Amino acid sequence: MMAAKASAQERLNEVVRIIAADMVAEVCSIYIRRAGDVLELFATQGLNPQAVHRTRLRIGEGLVGDIAAHARPLSLSDAQSHPQFAYRPETGEEIYHSFMGVPIVQAGRVVGVLTVQNKTRRTYDEDEVEALQIIAMVLAELAASGELVTREERSPQEGIALLPTRLEGVRFAGGVGIGQAVLHQPSITIRQIVADNPEAELKRLEAAVATMHVSLEALLDGAALGQKGEHQDVLEAYRMIAMDSGWIERIRDAVSTGLTAEAGVQQVRENTRARMNQVADHYLRERLGDLEDLAVRLLQHLTGESATMHTGPLPDNVVLVARTLGPAELLEYDTRKVRALVLEEGSPTAHVCIVARALDIPILGLVNDALIRIDNGDLLIVDAETQEMFVRPGEDIQQVYNTAMSARAQQRQRYAAIRERPAVSRDGARVKLLVNAGLELEVEQLGTVGAEGIGLYRTEIPFMVRAAYPEVEAQMALYRTVYEKASGRTVVFRTLDVGGDKVLPYFDRLGDENPAMGWRALRIALDRPAMLRNQLRALIRAAEGRPLSIMFPMVTEVAEFDQAKAILNLEIERERGRGNALPAEVKVGAMIEVPALLFQLKALLARVDFLSVGSNDLLQFLFAADRGNPRIATRYDPLSPAALRVFATLIQACDAARVPLSICGEMAGTPLEAMALVGLGIRSLSMSPLSVPPVKAMILSLDADGVRRYIVSLLDSPDRSLRDKLRAFARDHGVAL
Ligand code: PEP
Ligand code: MG
Repeated sequence: MMAAKASAQERLNEVVRIIAADMVAEVCSIYIRRAGDVLELFATQGLNPQAVHRTRLRIGEGLVGDIAAHARPLSLSDAQSHPQFAYRPETGEEIYHSFMGVPIVQAGRVVGVLTVQNKTRRTYDEDEVEALQIIAMVLAELAASGELVTREERSPQEGIALLPTRLEGVRFAGGVGIGQAVLHQPSITIRQIVADNPEAELKRLEAAVATMHVSLEALLDGAALGQKGEHQDVLEAYRMIAMDSGWIERIRDAVSTGLTAEAGVQQVRENTRARMNQVADHYLRERLGDLEDLAVRLLQHLTGESATMHTGPLPDNVVLVARTLGPAELLEYDTRKVRALVLEEGSPTAHVCIVARALDIPILGLVNDALIRIDNGDLLIVDAETQEMFVRPGEDIQQVYNTAMSARAQQRQRYAAIRERPAVSRDGARVKLLVNAGLELEVEQLGTVGAEGIGLYRTEIPFMVRAAYPEVEAQMALYRTVYEKASGRTVVFRTLDVGGDKVLPYFDRLGDENPAMGWRALRIALDRPAMLRNQLRALIRAAEGRPLSIMFPMVTEVAEFDQAKAILNLEIERERGRGNALPAEVKVGAMIEVPALLFQLKALLARVDFLSVGSNDLLQFLFAADRGNPRIATRYDPLSPAALRVFATLIQACDAARVPLSICGEMAGTPLEAMALVGLGIRSLSMSPLSVPPVKAMILSLDADGVRRYIVSLLDSPDRSLRDKLRAFARDHGVAL
């Protein structure tokens, strides 16, 4: 019937008639999405025919709008008592009690809703819901054909689609990329839903699964992505999901009910999507996202259609635009040509982002309606730094970006020139520049940015991207790799700092009302010493004759440091007792992140081998200002007299006690802040790798004693911030900021 010559409207009318008769429903209706996010009644059997093309509901309005808003089926035996029920007098639907509806989804978008209604209060069973979902799949193709609602109408940018547009998003990976848009819209047409020969369909399915596995192996093995790293873990997890027999079993079950192989995959895919909309857990969502990627891949093998939708050669500079993207889908493109990635959905921890970062591809995420507003071939400038992008930019913007990009390239060359030089100020102050790392990628950047070591290795990061808590062996392997990659440079390992904004996918959320001030970091470690002992054991074993530096996060009082150090000593003795190789030396330090510790400095300095200021946390507690709250993000300045006075006091105390002090919060990585810290006497800074070159350039141009004299004269100032004065000083004294 769908293939008949009749017009689209006639076919819809026929569909609702057949469904109503076949499902013994008094009513069957089809709503189609129109411009302005409105669902319009397009065809009905049972409701007042006058209501057709007149009854309209907004997405989210009424039961029909609710189905569209959540993209999931709804089945009710007494619809009118549902809080979402919206009564429309023109339809005459007040006499119907039971209601079932399913979304009509095309390329991941709800394009309509299909419903049935009955007078009696009856319950629709699962098979009926599924039957309706299968019909909705067929209707999706009709809705997408443009016969009912034109493509232009479906675009919210009606009429101005070709004007330059600026879109906003969220930075998932930094950088700027310019190129031609390639829309990633896997839309595979399923031509036949019901199988002619179910046995043959099962065979087709098995064959497609087998070829998919072979081609996936080749793709994942061939990914030109460095050997090791957490992106490899992600791909490995993906490979395991592809082999997961449960998923394929569900598809087999669907095919056994009489569907074609394609329709079976599609049905399981829709169910997965419906689940995905319900889970809040980000780790689980990622896994379900991988299944979506696999479903498309399997459909591609079944239909022989291209999942990337891009036929012909790729342009030399590509900006890939997608709703979501699986890690393997990204690798399907020639990534050497991909200059940026634009996603409508996703999160910075999404697997595709981890892989893209390993390939140095900037990503702008959460760009609303990108696929609608951008056409294949459009020129795009993606600026993940300013979290915006330009679609078909005018000459002026292109000019600005071209200039900025070449300036950036020149700057990179300048930075490359100072890479091997130590950071020594003009008047001879030697500053140690270290990096903060957590991803292997960051460890690898050590050499390329010209840093002297790792001042803060955030051990929780590898824990966060894993599927399960890593055992001692796995942790040891991880730390050993860090040592090897650091090739003899210093590494300071910070013990697990979870809680706060860092959640492990396999740990229950703690539900603390103020997680930053809750059960986190060392507090958890001291309450659950087994976890800390495992980690320390792994670190001691990984060190194996090399020096080991360990620091504890969020130490609040000296007694906590003592307790943690005692556990470390216990582990060292345990290893010694077993005759295992010990580290060449062990240095133990504390992070200064909680202001209370500043009032026990004397006792603390007598115990530690070094200290490191976690200025992100220290300043948030000092100013009582949540570090993640954008409303107060700029309210209190690290360059305020109060904050600088804290640093000055701490630096003096450490110098007097000859305890090395480093700063490892974000402020260490901004040249102006770093200048102030060096002025106050800091000689060791740890920052994200890409901040090293600009901070080094600043130090090379600095007269450290000049800044010291200037900044000391300002410490008693009543100003809120010394930022402007320090910037003016830098300008007047030729400091490269
Ligand atoms: C800090 O608090 O400044 C710090 C370096 O630790 P993190 O940012 O990991 O909390
Ligand atoms: Mg911290």
